[in-house]
Amino acid sequence: MPAIPLPAIHASHAGCWLRSGAGITRPAGKGEAVMAAADTPLLLLNAPLVATRLGYPDLSGLDLLELFAFIHPARFVVPTPKGLAHVLDLPEPAGDEDVPELLQQAAEALLAICGDPAWPEREGAWSALQNLTRLRWPWAPLVTARLAAPARAERWLFARLPEWQEAPERPQPAQVALDPAAVSARLAQLTGEGAEPRPAQVAYAGEAAQAFAPRAREGMPQLLLAQAGTGIGKTLGYLAPASLWAEQSGGTVWVSTYTKALQRQLRRESRRAWASTRADGSQPVVVRKGRENYLCLLNLEDALQGGFAGRAAVLAQLVARWAAYSQDGDMIGGDLPGWLGTLFRQRGIKALTDQRGECVYAGCPHYRKCFIERASRASAQADLVIANHALVMVNAARGRDAAQRPTRIVFDEGHHVFEAADSTFAAALTGAEAIELRRWVIGPERGSKGRRRGLSARLADVASYDEAGSKAIAAARYAAEALPGDGWLQRLAENAPSGPLEELLGAVRATVYARDESGGQDAGYGLETEAAQLDGAFVERAGAAQAALAELRVPLIRLGVRLEAILADPPDWLDGAGRARIEGARHSLAWRIDLLAAWEALLERLGGPADPEFVDWLAVERSEAREFDVGLHRRWLDPMKPFARTVLEPAHGVMITSATLTNGGDWDTAVDRSGARALGLAPRQSSFDSPFDYAQQAEVLIVTDVAKGDISALAGAYGRLIEASGGGVLGLFTAIRRLRAVHGRIADRLARSGLPLYAQHVDPIDTGTLVDIFRDDPRASLLGTDALRDGVDVPGHSLRLVVMEQVPWPKPSILHRARRLAHGGSDYDDQIIRARLAQAFGRLIRSRDDHGHFVVLSAAFPSRLLSAFPAGTPIRRVTLDEALQRVAGGVSGAPVQSESPA
Ligand code: SF4
Repeated sequence: MPAIPLPAIHASHAGCWLRSGAGITRPAGKGEAVMAAADTPLLLLNAPLVATRLGYPDLSGLDLLELFAFIHPARFVVPTPKGLAHVLDLPEPAGDEDVPELLQQAAEALLAICGDPAWPEREGAWSALQNLTRLRWPWAPLVTARLAAPARAERWLFARLPEWQEAPERPQPAQVALDPAAVSARLAQLTGEGAEPRPAQVAYAGEAAQAFAPRAREGMPQLLLAQAGTGIGKTLGYLAPASLWAEQSGGTVWVSTYTKALQRQLRRESRRAWASTRADGSQPVVVRKGRENYLCLLNLEDALQGGFAGRAAVLAQLVARWAAYSQDGDMIGGDLPGWLGTLFRQRGIKALTDQRGECVYAGCPHYRKCFIERASRASAQADLVIANHALVMVNAARGRDAAQRPTRIVFDEGHHVFEAADSTFAAALTGAEAIELRRWVIGPERGSKGRRRGLSARLADVASYDEAGSKAIAAARYAAEALPGDGWLQRLAENAPSGPLEELLGAVRATVYARDESGGQDAGYGLETEAAQLDGAFVERAGAAQAALAELRVPLIRLGVRLEAILADPPDWLDGAGRARIEGARHSLAWRIDLLAAWEALLERLGGPADPEFVDWLAVERSEAREFDVGLHRRWLDPMKPFARTVLEPAHGVMITSATLTNGGDWDTAVDRSGARALGLAPRQSSFDSPFDYAQQAEVLIVTDVAKGDISALAGAYGRLIEASGGGVLGLFTAIRRLRAVHGRIADRLARSGLPLYAQHVDPIDTGTLVDIFRDDPRASLLGTDALRDGVDVPGHSLRLVVMEQVPWPKPSILHRARRLAHGGSDYDDQIIRARLAQAFGRLIRSRDDHGHFVVLSAAFPSRLLSAFPAGTPIRRVTLDEALQRVAGGVSGAPVQSESPA
């Protein structure tokens, strides 16, 4: 008899297995499995994934991942049978047919924890279970049978969370010059006793220290560009001078990354330099993200009290369990399992974060426990703030508090600063953006649910006290009616727009469809056209929309002035909390006024000559032929100009570092892409070669006989390469359509050989979890697109072959064409491709012991791009058969007829 007498099901690409409550496992057809699941709730792991494998989307059952999220909230598990076995200390299943038995054992093991007095996450479980029972959560009866009511009332989430404390502002940092010997000594201390000395790392740390020297002139920061090949030990290299500077000056260093993987690594490595808490309980190291990453407790409370229904309400209960044990409330890439949201097949997680800037600050009952407020206060006191490029830029541009703006910044993964600046300083007047603004001003309209509140509800006390303020709020509310409302997309499709903004968007849509020649219409992709040669009727609509936006901006400015006046001469009723709330409102008002001004500027120029600083275009965003947004877009031709003014100019010391700053090109490009020229700065430049022996560790194979455009041949090549290497393959695609076609052709066959294949855009699993699964199973392979080219840090045997389907040409968009024209045509393309190749190659060799192949399935690989690969890497043009032999034999590095990088 099994540990728990419940039937279980497991389905993979290789087949499907059912196990009865009496403990007998047998293979089953998909139809039979679906029938069995419909008859009685089955134990299963990751219902959406099993549903995809069975081709039956409505499948549900007793999902062990949901039970795990209840029993061990905020605990990491790889959501696979093997991952579950490891975390529960159960024997790993040898094959697919052993999985149903494991599911029964895991269910028993998890349920048994309810009776364990040492269960660390017990508090709050019983209360949550009562709610889950009301919601008919399938696990509720089984858990109820094992979980006793607590003797004393337990603290529920909102009582359990600690309050943050106000702290005095830190004085400005002391001016210090770091002693080179002290920097080396600090580095030695961080790398630890017995670590082999790395002269390049010592030199790198010495260079990094230069970024912390006092600046000589206002507006001219110390700027260092440091290229450091993989394996130099960059993070400890800059953390050594950063920690020393923070200690000696009393200031804060911001380290900014692009990927979550590096943030996690930094969090780990910073522990060598700083304790987790100081003597006064404050944190010397804080991870900061954009507010849209964190749980908003007010949104959660609303969801728990009826804002969410059905399965979404179950999700809210499980999120509440997590929130009580979370380290920092970070829902995206923090300790909330990435798979939890996808189990519920909806956007519930997003609705629980503070997406729309509706925060009411001190007006919120949870303000003193709010995760976002806590992180923001903690970072003002921290020695080290770990953030991402977008947040650093947003904070520099419109940080609430000048004292919190970063002045010493290390941009790691510096090759991504350009694209982060590109999106941060962009303007987009689209239906989706405009309706958000309408909701922010007006609040709930017919039929909308939730706790959303408009401007007048948020500032009710100001309105009743200050007549001019009240009038400004009423005028803004009236003017916001001109913005798109619910159902705007439908009205556009029916050619029945309402109001000046919808009329403009209708004209945008019609113009885009009329002009598009990209071929994207049939393929279902997004469409775009230049904002040029627009006819008189279009320009007239743009004028009317511009006037409507100005009508809204003016009362918002007036309201801002009134709020300033109230803060300057506070009435009696204005207590500390009220003041904080008005300051919050003033801040969010300011950035909406800027947003409106940017939209008006975009419309202003439509009838006249183009502004050479910007690239403007019209677009219809689509996904699989379904439209989801329509609007006008503006980007800086060179986004490093606003970056220089907003981030560099106020800073004292900035370091931009990466393994690929020069993209196999020259330093001129790296300087161009640092923003230095806009300030007339001559940055310090330094370069450190990777210590890896690429000639022995890696090999690039350019396969010459897979015909372009032949999907069967492409799929065949992928399948055979994965078999030859026995898994451990990262397959990179430039088009989702081809990725799906390849996956569909080979996944079943590979699974039958014990080689699981996962894929972005196919499996209902978030990208972070896919990488966790891939890392955990050396026989697994993973197919994906752009996000995987740079976000995968899988050292060792789990990643031993990278396969690119073709040369990663840039997408020929309007924006790309404009920049290409401005930067020397095909040289500009080459830079982009070299950068992408270098990033992809960088996934392969992460440590001295790594070995692997990098395969490009494209005969048309230009030799001039070979400089993307590290010097010394052997490169061969071979047939697929030869490539298979080399991969299967693990042969790399023999210097026979190889082409060398330039
Ligand atoms: S303070 Fe703002 S973000 Fe925090 S819980 Fe309240 S409403 Fe949400």
